[in-house]
Amino acid sequence: MDCRPGCAACCIAPSISSPIPGMPVVNGISKPAGVPCIQLDEQLRCKLFGRPERPAVCGSLMPTPEMCGNSRAQALRFLGWLEQDTKPEPMGPPAPPPA
Ligand code: SF4
Ligand code: SF4
Repeated sequence: MDCRPGCAACCIAPSISSPIPGMPVVNGISKPAGVPCIQLDEQLRCKLFGRPERPAVCGSLMPTPEMCGNSRAQALRFLGWLEQDTKPEPMGPPAPPPA
């Protein structure tokens, strides 16, 4: 299937850890979940498309009926759920040393 023009849900909903020009990496995350990528233009297209600075993860993401749904709102909702489901668990206290 083709990517829906004016959607950009996958450039907004998920967090991205790969470096993105203009977005500082904080705690291993360059683009936090729910924050529009700074590289989106006014038409919600990627300004880095076809350029080497574009994270490989962006180029590898393919539109699918499950992810993209029938509307931008559906895609944002699905990707938001996915983000929640794949978030690393907070680290617990360290294990006690062996006796
Ligand atoms: S969620 Fe799907 S339709 Fe929307 S921008 Fe991403 S690939 Fe394109
Ligand atoms: S670099 Fe481009 S494809 Fe990747 S999240 Fe940003 S706008 Fe989207």
